Amino acid sequence: TQPSFGLIGLAVMGENLALNVERNGFPVTVYNRTYAKTEEFMATRAQGKNFLAARDLKEFVQKLDRPRKILIMVKAGKPVDAVIDSLKPLLEEGDTIIDGGNSLYEDTERRTEDLEASKLGFVGMGVSGGEEGALNGPSLMPGGTPAAYKELEPILTKIAAQVDDGPCVTFIGKGGAGHYVKMVHNGIEYGDMQLIAEAYDLLKNGLGLTNPELHQVFSEWNETEELNSFLIEITRDIFTQIDPETKQHLIDLIVDAAGQKGTGRWTVVTSLELGVSIPTITAAVNARIISSYKEERVTASQELTGPSGKYDGDIAAFIPKVRDALYCSKICSYAQGMALLATASQEFGYDLNLSEISRIWKGGCIIRAGFLDKIKVAFKENPSLPNLLLAPEFKQTILDRQQAWRDVLALAAQLGIPVPAFSASLDYFDSYRRAVLPQNLTQAQRDYFGAHTYERIDRPRGEFFHTQWMS
Ligand code: NDP
Repeated sequence: TQPSFGLIGLAVMGENLALNVERNGFPVTVYNRTYAKTEEFMATRAQGKNFLAARDLKEFVQKLDRPRKILIMVKAGKPVDAVIDSLKPLLEEGDTIIDGGNSLYEDTERRTEDLEASKLGFVGMGVSGGEEGALNGPSLMPGGTPAAYKELEPILTKIAAQVDDGPCVTFIGKGGAGHYVKMVHNGIEYGDMQLIAEAYDLLKNGLGLTNPELHQVFSEWNETEELNSFLIEITRDIFTQIDPETKQHLIDLIVDAAGQKGTGRWTVVTSLELGVSIPTITAAVNARIISSYKEERVTASQELTGPSGKYDGDIAAFIPKVRDALYCSKICSYAQGMALLATASQEFGYDLNLSEISRIWKGGCIIRAGFLDKIKVAFKENPSLPNLLLAPEFKQTILDRQQAWRDVLALAAQLGIPVPAFSASLDYFDSYRRAVLPQNLTQAQRDYFGAHTYERIDRPRGEFFHTQWMS
């Protein structure tokens, strides 16, 4: 017999996933557009292992037993359509195509419909964990054709990261659900990274900590139950890396202009379309954008002066406040991400299980953290929880620490240190907890200039009034 699992696209992610699948006992047929890449793979990392190579797609399909399960790991966008279009005529009823790239969920919706109409299975699968995760156990977010997922389940449950409560994979939902959830995962990842960057800025420029001291602080934070996570762990390590050439700390030699590939932006776009407020994640995307105006900022820094001093109080006592501010902000960021998923679930009929989604993020992926277990529990106890901030555990944490959070933001403002994601989180909390916001004025203005009408507090909701203002 020959393999029934095939992989297309032998770049970083594809190679590692192929090796992971094979290591778990499933032979794999591989194909890459540029054949030299396939030859190289076969002669090196695939040596002596259970792989078959194909020079073209026809040969690739012939070298797969039915029902075929074909994982595509090529550049997201047009290349995925190009591969699907070439593959489709070669496949037979019951075969399944899996797209494991970072595809836009709307593309996945379209592809699922198209392939299901041709009696093929399609699984749009979010894969997180980078290169290392792909090889040793990623978090997998498959959505699409339910029957196709069932076929894949024995493989996916083996190659995924394993945590205390099972493999980091679950069927997410129909159509583009898997890629939608992966997109929001990435949005949350942007939020986490920005919050850590702001804590770094405060500790370094507000409190004057050196790199070894930053290493120490992040080591301690990583030992705490609430902040223990992959991103805090790598942050801790980053502060010890020395550049071999200059012998300086590498972190201080890196240009402060962040790149982005689009999943954070997509998360913001869908949140605006669905009318879900995700200010922390939006602030994180904006922070990357403004960081990219490097030259402009250097010029502006000569002209637009502001405070530049350091904190003159008890530094050791202030560090835990920064930690509390980080944790409270992180809770708000996840509350926003989960609220977005809850709305998308209703809007698109994905029927998402937020507890399971939190569970499969506990291992393998970039946002993996001990903290996700608490979110899993919160949604398990109450699947229709309107907002994570209302879960008993998180509510109490924020109530206990909000003073520290406010102190940190006040200091940042005084010292002129930008903390857009910390601020957006506190604003989210303060807006969400307010029974009355000033949008009565907004409604009055809208009615004044545009006859948009308003509701009254002394009448039932849903009754609309218009006033001839100043007449
Ligand atoms: P790339 O996104 O760099 O894609 C390179 C691969 O795509 C190569 O195999 C290339 O073939 C193939 N390719 C490009 N255009 C075409 C085309 N028109 N037809 C056929 N094949 C084509 O590779 P990565 O491994 O970095 O990522 C793969 C996917 O996984 C992407 O969607 C990415 O966003 C996603 N992803 C990546 C992560 C990462 O950490 N890198 C993490 C999670 C997801 P050739 O060799 O012939 O050029």
